[in-house]
This record gives sequence, structure tokens and C-alpha cells, in this order.
Amino acid sequence: MSKYDVTIIGSGPGGYVAAIRCAQLGLKTAIIEKYNTLGGTCLNVGCIPSKAMLDSSEHYFNAVHNFKEHGISTGDLSVDLAQLVERKNSVVSQTCDGIKFLMDKNKIEVHHGVGSFVDKNNIKITGADGEKTIQTDKVIIATGSKPNFFPGMEPDKKRIITSTEALNLKEVPKHLIVIGGGVIGLELGSVYARLGSAVTVVEYADSIISMMDVSQSKELQRILKKEGFKFNFNHGVTKVVNNGKGVVVTATNKKGEEVNIEGDYCLVAVGRKPFTTGLSLENIGVEVDKRGMIPTNDHLETSVPGIYAIGDVVKGMMLAHKAEEEGVFVAETLAGQKPHINYDLIPGVVYTWPEVASVGKTEQEIKAAGIDYKVGQFPIRALGRARASMDIQGMVKIIADKTTDEVLGVHMVAPRAADLIMEAVVAMEYRASSEDIARICHPHPTYSEAVKEAALAAWNDSPLHI
Ligand code: FAD
Ligand code: NAD
Repeated sequence: MSKYDVTIIGSGPGGYVAAIRCAQLGLKTAIIEKYNTLGGTCLNVGCIPSKAMLDSSEHYFNAVHNFKEHGISTGDLSVDLAQLVERKNSVVSQTCDGIKFLMDKNKIEVHHGVGSFVDKNNIKITGADGEKTIQTDKVIIATGSKPNFFPGMEPDKKRIITSTEALNLKEVPKHLIVIGGGVIGLELGSVYARLGSAVTVVEYADSIISMMDVSQSKELQRILKKEGFKFNFNHGVTKVVNNGKGVVVTATNKKGEEVNIEGDYCLVAVGRKPFTTGLSLENIGVEVDKRGMIPTNDHLETSVPGIYAIGDVVKGMMLAHKAEEEGVFVAETLAGQKPHINYDLIPGVVYTWPEVASVGKTEQEIKAAGIDYKVGQFPIRALGRARASMDIQGMVKIIADKTTDEVLGVHMVAPRAADLIMEAVVAMEYRASSEDIARICHPHPTYSEAVKEAALAAWNDSPLHI
């Protein structure tokens, strides 16, 4: 029987990164994945395919709407959805193959099949080629999450779909109804809106991306409305029916009235739930909480010593980079090191165009905490770079402590905000003040100048270009 120092169950960004770090630190490592490809949700049906489709649809949108002004004539344009999906599939398979390469390079043994606990040191693997059991000293559970839904909106995967089916549609919907104005709803809604679908978002809360800074939800909402998105806020969906030709979504509005919306597809994007099915956790006494998450201590160790859990299956934001940090954290802990994760500085991004990115506290949170603060904001349209590129929407907002000037939160809607936000993450990791950022030389012409200008505005209300 094979015997390992560490066995990781699940090969998403949490699991495969944990495996690499364990192997780098000299631990004999195995990884178990129930699907044929490695990479988990993120690589197969999440981050990577959605970004591939976002980029393709953005090229199309720009060709249709913006090329003319750049002096480029294109003639009639059309979308070949099958080719768009094919390119996405090829990006996914190249990326997944890359993980297989990294496993081999680091001498990590990969077992395909469902991993389940016989006891805390014996893991049964049930795969296409039968059953086997491996022995292990420690285990890291990295089994991720699955799409959530509420009673009445069960996906039939044909017209009532989750993100997974939305990444593989055979036709561009005429009218896509999206339940949930969160990250998935807006990213995949953007893909189809750009390809020509009418998109209606039905959202329980009174704004989109309600967990982010209020300035971002307002700005993005304004931009998406211009792209043709329709929003129904304060609408709780109670029922979705596939009538063969299309879907009817029933929601209750703020006044308690029932509203019916008809479309041809409905994307259910109301969050994700931790996934532990098949692990036989009961055999080792690891319990899950009422949301299905595995409780862990500060070392990400479960209630059973030697069994750790990371990523979407434990508390915190369901993000690939958070899962990766936790994978490294547990591997280093197992190797006797004393690693640290700064959970306050995990950036969040929504890959609409422009992108939305945040780090630190929102203005709502700072206000609620009773902290005396100041705000500096700068519009993207005031940048030379923005006008040169015809990408003028968005803003950067910096919130700093009124007394100490320490930066408490940075929130932006901007071209490439996903990359721009890293300046703020680094600055905040080193507890920079808004003056520190304002005094750093930023290259011209770039979008990063908006960060400097917002810092100047926050520091002493002295932005230079507005
Ligand atoms: P997962 O990636 O879910 O991987 C878990 C793996 O465990 C799966 O491969 C599963 O098959 C396997 N598994 C489960 N049970 C067993 C078992 N018993 N035996 C063997 N294997 C098992 N996050 C970002 O940060 N940026 C993004 O841009 C982004 N975009 C997203 C877009 C979409 C459409 C979706 C759905 C998600 C997106 N996310 C994004 C979220 C991100 O995908 C997750 O946070 C991340 O994948 C979590 O990683 P993980 O390792 O915890 O689990
Ligand atoms: P979400 O939590 O971002 O948004 C869900 C939305 O659905 C919320 O706004 C909620 O108010 C609404 N909702 C819930 N029940 C409803 C109902 N009955 N009627 C109407 N609206 C309802 O969840 P998501 O968009 O499904 O994304 C799931 C997770 O995947 C997120 O936590 C995110 O971390 C991760 N993800 C991240 C990225 C990224 O980092 N760019 C991209 C995609 C997904």
C-alpha cells in the first residue's frame, strides 16, 4: 500500500498549490482528484474559462461599437459561439495540462477517483479502474464548492442553468435572466450582453455587488445599464419554470407583489456552497457547520488533529487566491514553519469591463466602526491614458484614517483594475499612508496615475489633474 506524509483531497487552486509547497518542503505528497483533469472549479469551470469568454466577448463588443471611432472598418460582424467556446476549452485544457506538468515536476503522486476517509490515516480512492486505499500521516481537505440554489430555482441544466452550463451554451440567448447581481451574475451576464443578449438581473438586495464599496456598485450599475443590462432590485426570486420554449422567473418585489419575467434562459447565480459529499467525514468525526463549511482553528486544522481544510470548503471569501494562500499556509505549518495570512488584505475583483477591484475596508464598514476617515477620489476620464485608449469610465477611491493618514481601503472601477489593485495591496501590507502613495512616482501615461491622484486627493485634497 502506498504511504505518504501528506495527502490532499481535491486539486483546485487550494489543493494543487498545497501539494506543490508540501513537495518543495520535502514531504512525500499525494493528491486525489475525482475528475479526469486537475485544477478544480477555478481552472475547469470557473476563473479561467469565464475570463477566456469575457475577453472574447469584449473583443467582439469593441469591434462592433468602438473600432469605427478608431478608424477601423470591419464590415458585417457576427459571433461564432461554437468557436468562442472551443477557444475557451483549449485555454482550459492547456492550463489543466500545466498543473499535471507541475505535479510530475514536483514528484507528486496523482490519484484519480473519489477520496473518502476510512479512518484518519487511510483514504479510500474509488475511481474508474476500481478501488484502492492509501496510507497517510496528514490530510488536507480541499474539496471546494458547488453552485448554490434555493427551493423553486433548481437548475435543470437546460434552460435553468448554473455558471457551468453558461460556459458551454450552444446559442446566444435572446433574453438571459440572471438571478443574483453578484460576481458570477455580472461576469457571465456581461459575456452574453456583449454578444447581443438582453440581460435582466433579478436581485434580492437593493444594489449589485452589495458586499463591495457603495461607490463601486453605483458606478458599475451606471456603466452596465448603458450596455443594456436591466436591473430589478429588491426582488426575491421564488420560482423558475422551464416551459419548453423558455423560462418564467417569478419574484416578489418590495411591496410584496408577484412579478413574472419571461426569457429564454435563466442563470442561477445566488452563491456557492461548500462541497464535502463523498468524503465520509463521519468516519473520522469531522463535522460541518449549518452552512456546510468545515470549521477550522487558526492553523486551518479541523477538530481532528492532523486533518486540515482549506479554500472554499472553509470560512472566508470563496476566491482562488485565498485558497492558494491557505494551501501554502498549511504546507508550511506541516513543515514546522510559522506562516501568516493577512485575511484583511485579500483583494476582490469583478472582471466586468471596466474591472472592479477592492482591498481593505469599505466606506460602509469604516463608518459603522466609528472611525474618523477621509476620502480621495479620482475619475478615470481625467487621465490622458484613458482618452488615448477610449476607456474613460470608472474611478479610484482611497479611504484613509483622518488622524494618522493610514490607508484603510482602496476601491476602484477601472480598466485593468484587477492588476492596478496590487499597488494598494502592497502599500497597505506596509501600512502606507495616502501621502506615501501620493509621493511615489507613477509612470505616465498609465491608469496607475489615478491611484496617485486619488492618494493626493485623500492626503491633502490636492489632486493635480482635476
Ligand atoms: P475547487 O477549485 O472547487 O476544487 C475542489 C476540487 O476537489 C474539485 O476539482 C473537485 O472535483 C475535487 N473533489 C471534491 N470532492 C472530492 C473527493 N471526495 N475526492 C476527490 N476529489 C474531490 N475566484 C477567483 O479568485 N477569481 C476568479 O476570477 C473567479 N472566477 C470564478 C468564476 C466562476 C464561474 C466560478 C464558479 C468561480 C470563480 N472563482 C473565482 C472562485 C474559484 O473558482 C474558487 O474560489 C476556487 O476554485 C476554490 O478553490 P478550491 O481549491 O477551494 O476548490
Ligand atoms: P454572490 O454571493 O457574489 O452573489 C449572489 C447574489 O444573489 C447576491 O447579491 C444575493 O443577494 C443574490 N440572491 C440570493 N438569493 C436571491 C434570490 N432568491 N433572488 C434574487 N437574488 C438573490 O454569488 P455568486 O455570484 O454566485 O458567486 C459565488 C462565489 O464565487 C462568490 O462568493 C465569489 O467569491 C466566487 N466568484 C468569484 C469571482 C471573482 O473573483 N471574480 C468570479 C466568480 C465567482
